[in-house]
Amino acid sequence: MIESFIKINDYNIKVYSLNTVVVGTGASGFNAADRLVSFGQKDIAIVTEDINAGTSRNTGSDKQTYYKLTLSGKDTDSIEELANTLFEGQCVDGDIALCEAALSAQCFLKLVELGVPFPRNRYGEYIGYKTDHDPRRRATSAGPYTSKFMTECLEKAVNEKGVKIFDKLQVIKILTDGDKLRGILCLDLQNIMDPNRRYVAFNCKNVIYATGGPAGMYADSVYPLGHYGATGIAFDAGVMGKNLTEWQYGLSSIKPRWNVSGTFMQVLPRFISTDENGNDEREFLFDFFSDKGDMLTKVFLKGYQWPFDVRKIDGGSSIIDILVYIESCIKGRRVLLDFRNNPGGEDIDFSVLSSEAREYLERAGATFGTPIQRLLHMNAPAVSFYKDKGVDLNSEPLEIALCAQHNNGGLTIDKWWQTNIEGFFAIGEVSAS
Ligand SMILES: Cc1cc2nc3c(=O)[nH]c(=O)nc-3n(C[C@H](O)[C@H](O)[C@H](O)COP(=O)(O)OP(=O)(O)OC[C@H]3O[C@@H](n4cnc5c(N)ncnc54)[C@H](O)[C@@H]3O)c2cc1C
Repeated sequence: MIESFIKINDYNIKVYSLNTVVVGTGASGFNAADRLVSFGQKDIAIVTEDINAGTSRNTGSDKQTYYKLTLSGKDTDSIEELANTLFEGQCVDGDIALCEAALSAQCFLKLVELGVPFPRNRYGEYIGYKTDHDPRRRATSAGPYTSKFMTECLEKAVNEKGVKIFDKLQVIKILTDGDKLRGILCLDLQNIMDPNRRYVAFNCKNVIYATGGPAGMYADSVYPLGHYGATGIAFDAGVMGKNLTEWQYGLSSIKPRWNVSGTFMQVLPRFISTDENGNDEREFLFDFFSDKGDMLTKVFLKGYQWPFDVRKIDGGSSIIDILVYIESCIKGRRVLLDFRNNPGGEDIDFSVLSSEAREYLERAGATFGTPIQRLLHMNAPAVSFYKDKGVDLNSEPLEIALCAQHNNGGLTIDKWWQTNIEGFFAIGEVSAS
């Protein structure tokens, strides 16, 4: 890496010349930098607006899931089958899906070697479970903070390799010459008032853009506070996008930002809405459902059908998302989950639930009491989690909204993850992969 200066108008700009800049310090950015060094490219640096920001390090969920090729038991699986599953989601090209599937085991086992505590049985198998729309049992989890562990382990690996990290530099412009990358221009966030230090430029052959999802455009979001993404800067430079409207949305609390999936729904809380000031409380799901058993079953299913799915509106659990959306975004009311009382304010007759929901709750020994009692029985850490964040589910309702969680589309890439700008690669959530 060579350091020099250029003067443009009244600004002295420091310029670093090097082979490759990785932008972003989430799991994808760190992994790319680590791989590049392993493969022999050492003339690299990482640029990030905040080394501790981003979704990977700062988010989680009840059981944050890592999706991979099956690596346990008698379940059959193959690269082609996994590629087909990814492709069937309709947000990734077939060749990219095939690469993802082919490298799945290698990438997963690398994380294992780096110390991410994925669970295994006494014989060494990484036992899987079914996640949303999963035809196999390919999911695994290192707990609520899987992506945080991944980021920390990858960061350690990058630091051990001595990769230079420029923290508090925000990319504001991608520099191109026709359809070729020339570099990036950054704001030095710590020296913004000093015209001689405000801008820093990187003159490089390649940029690997790992800036995460464009979360900043949503009012209701479960992305971590302070994560905005930088997809627009790439569009400004002429990078093309694909499937940009394909997003994952689901029910989340807004303070703190956290998905209310899994047991939060399976314990059958009361869905209430109030006016802006917390008055005029009503149980709005009853406006739609005439059959209470049907309503409770749909709420239960939201537990493991968390993302909104257009195919599950009519007769499925995604109707709950729609009803929350109508209540909050169209009627302008606040929506809250009340764990203190059962829906309708009376004991639940569990026999009215579908057999799937009833049998699950029976097996869990959770066909009694109030939602908070069932939650404490099934998943006490979930109650402690909110208590640690200042919300006592024993004594107050939890405000929720239908929130944006993940952009499935993104910047268009080929099977080398290169965009239409030569030398400009997009990886992780910012890419349409
Ligand atoms: C609540 C929640 C639950 C989730 N659960 C799951 C799950 O169970 N399974 C799953 O697979 N996925 C899940 N996801 C999605 C997954 O966490 C993200 O897609 C993934 O972490 C994104 O990683 P990334 O490295 O691409 O980006 P990020 O981790 O978001 O990192 C982006 C980086 O880019 C930097 N950056 C951004 N803009 C700029 C700029 N202009 N200049 C310089 N730097 C910049 C940021 O500082 C940050 O370091 C979940 C997401 C959320 C919000």
